[in-house]
Amino acid sequence: MIVFDGVVKQFGDNVVLSELDFTVAPGEHVTLIGPSGSGKTTILRLLMTLEKVNRGTIHVGGKCLSHMDKGGKRVPADDKYCREVRKRIGMVFQQFNLFPNMTVRGNLIEAPCRVLGLSKEEANARAEELLELVGLSGKIDEHPTRLSGGQQQRVAIARALAMRPDVLLLDEVTSALDPELVAGVLALLRDIGETTDITILCVTHEMGFARDFSHRVMMFDRGKVVEDAPPSELFTQPREQRTRDFLRAVL
Ligand code: ADP
Repeated sequence: MIVFDGVVKQFGDNVVLSELDFTVAPGEHVTLIGPSGSGKTTILRLLMTLEKVNRGTIHVGGKCLSHMDKGGKRVPADDKYCREVRKRIGMVFQQFNLFPNMTVRGNLIEAPCRVLGLSKEEANARAEELLELVGLSGKIDEHPTRLSGGQQQRVAIARALAMRPDVLLLDEVTSALDPELVAGVLALLRDIGETTDITILCVTHEMGFARDFSHRVMMFDRGKVVEDAPPSELFTQPREQRTRDFLRAVL
């Protein structure tokens, strides 16, 4: 579902990802861990086409993110092509990023109507179903600003799912929450992981969640994969010293 092949990303002289290769299979849950600044968020931003690679290629569901085919020629991807690819990818951010001037309903139906072309009725039905899933049925006509952080993040998760994505990207989605709200959001994500076949790529500092949610954990350091293993191995018998040091510092 996701293929990184020789990906190099740099900001000026700062090489953030160097010759990065990895794949994620359909339905797989992969968690990226590692010290701050090691390039984890950049990977998610590249997948959302919010950044462009300097070298190498990224494919999602068989589609190249950086180049498209035009009349048999391989040319740089244009905005329209990027939007098409992005339809299949949902992202949930640390800071929720809900539209503050819209109600919960507005947040949930906007993209399905505008991007997927769903009718208002279809999008509303989908919104109601998803709000029930995230435990917020009674809040459909609330404004996001009147909700707690945990509730806002649940709406953001529902909004991402409303697009029926093949791939869901989770970027430290509990980092901005009060501690007592974290467990509820993680339980919801576990539930989504168990009941859907969405491919999930997750950046988190919640090692307990990484351990029981992921099929695979990739430890990053300075833009390289230091270790890539199932959580049962990586958390109990890390092979690399760098992973051991990191886990000792965060656990
Ligand atoms: P992580 O998610 O592992 O904390 P990031 O992917 O956010 O790491 O950042 C990796 C490196 O890329 C950092 O050195 C950061 O300063 C740099 N970086 C990220 N985005 C930008 C940007 N838009 N412009 C310049 N440097 C950036």
